[in-house]
Amino acid sequence: MAQAKNLAESVIFPKGQKITNNYFIGGAWLEMLVPADSPLNCPIGNVTFEPGARNNWHKHAGGQILLVTGGTGYYQEEGKPAQVIREGDVVEIPSDVKHWHGATADSWFAHIAISTNIHMGETEWLEPVTDEAYDQL
Ligand code: MN
Repeated sequence: MAQAKNLAESVIFPKGQKITNNYFIGGAWLEMLVPADSPLNCPIGNVTFEPGARNNWHKHAGGQILLVTGGTGYYQEEGKPAQVIREGDVVEIPSDVKHWHGATADSWFAHIAISTNIHMGETEWLEPVTDEAYDQL
């Protein structure tokens, strides 16, 4: 099936740099659209995942909003089934809720990540989403 947009390049915003920390499985890219040190206190990043890529389980002390800009991905909160999310979906992630997000196995995926209530604290990174668990989705 032809994709209307080539997500391997960029969707709307620049793809940015490949993420090199240990909190992701598979290739993911980040472009900060509003930097963390902006006086507006509202960091906004464009995150692009290759098929199969996802972040580790994590919690945002002040919550997070995801605006899906392309492709098909997953969002899962601990204890709940993974939700399939697509371009145009908005995900409101409450403070301190353990979750992960990433691409499906056969699609690139891009979202804008907005850090909310950043005065409440940092992101806490937890264990990876194992291949065993991911492959069952
Ligand atoms: Mn998150």
